[in-house]
Amino acid sequence: MPDRELIESDRTHVWHPYTQHGLGREPLVIRSGKGAFLYDQNDRAIFDGISSWWVTLHGHAQPEIARAIGEQALVLEQVIFTDFTHEPAAALASELSAVLPGKLTRCFFSDDGSTAVEVALKIAIQYWANAGEKRLLVAAFENAYHGDTFGAMSVSGRGLFTAAFQEQLFEVVRLPDPSTGDVLEAISQLVADRGKQLAAVIVEPLLLGAGGMRMYGEQLLRDIVTRVRASGALFIADEVLTGFGRTGPLFACDRAKIEPDIICLSKGLTGGFLPLGVTAVREEIFERFVSDEQWQMFFHGHSYSANPIACAAARASLNLLDDASQLRRDKIEAVHREQLACLGTHPNVRNPRVLGTVGAFDLADSSGYLDSRGRALADYALRNNVLVRPLGGTVYLLPPFCTLPEELTYAYQVIARILDTM
Ligand code: PMP
Repeated sequence: MPDRELIESDRTHVWHPYTQHGLGREPLVIRSGKGAFLYDQNDRAIFDGISSWWVTLHGHAQPEIARAIGEQALVLEQVIFTDFTHEPAAALASELSAVLPGKLTRCFFSDDGSTAVEVALKIAIQYWANAGEKRLLVAAFENAYHGDTFGAMSVSGRGLFTAAFQEQLFEVVRLPDPSTGDVLEAISQLVADRGKQLAAVIVEPLLLGAGGMRMYGEQLLRDIVTRVRASGALFIADEVLTGFGRTGPLFACDRAKIEPDIICLSKGLTGGFLPLGVTAVREEIFERFVSDEQWQMFFHGHSYSANPIACAAARASLNLLDDASQLRRDKIEAVHREQLACLGTHPNVRNPRVLGTVGAFDLADSSGYLDSRGRALADYALRNNVLVRPLGGTVYLLPPFCTLPEELTYAYQVIARILDTM
């Protein structure tokens, strides 16, 4: 399709996510991707500084994953996943179980990050219901982001994203943002007051992503887990963003040396090729759903649960997370540290921070998600062949693991240039 026709079809028939169409901005047509780069209609190479919404893990069009997808599609593209199984799902579940933090032996498949979270919440609630215990409360952080479906929105921090739906969201015990508030005192209080009503606590381990790339410490996370355990509630780690090496080790829970009861995975799970969600749980949790009573089964499923092609992509991606990948991630972290050490002295920069392959800072006097300087910075960067998408006044780089030090350094140089003009 010629470019003009494509843009016209898009303008007439497509509704883009998180996009104000009233601003009349034209989307950029991307024709292909390779490694850390996207290519537009003029074959201009654009450095993907945000891994295309945090999903592209090893690089665009990674050949082993592409091959696995093609081969699987020719053999079995889809089959209903109740009463049937297949090798890509069974093998992936066992390979994941072998590398997941702690003893997460059971994988439940869904479609994306939001559904992985919905599943985790539903499992936690029904886990207690199946035992005849009335535990209905869920606790979550201020400024958390867990997805855009209703359950995931309910446990996310309330604000701009959730304002229109506020009345329809279920009530959640809100804990202070661990990057700024006294979360330990609040959890201790919660456990003392309502510990026996608490079904689960859901956290983004070490990094509150969409809430502003807010980072907090490993010891703090360990202390949070200890307090949650004291109440008997389930501890849910949402590693949709942090999973598969983003924070350095395979999982943020590994980094913090904690063992969750339930983990949510998506984004990098398939290397960023196909949508797939996994919610993995400890065996004891699964066992509470196993009985000769139909009503105790887990009432959840999706048409595409454990799609064989997506599972094949995930297996191929997992296989690429080897020692060489770890070295590449270490190099990315080193560049973040070096560049942010320089940028940190800029008068327009506040709170430079690094966690594994994620580097971030805030603009001075940031007014939050609607800070228009973030958009101005993104526009300037794109004109200079770098894709970034600041969260309002929070600027971050989160590149694919194939990124070379000089490519990431160039992205920082572009950002530094626009900061001079702000
Ligand atoms: N959890 C976290 C921590 C996320 O960062 C996201 C997406 N940014 C989600 C859940 C939701 O994932 P999805 O967009 O695939 O529904």
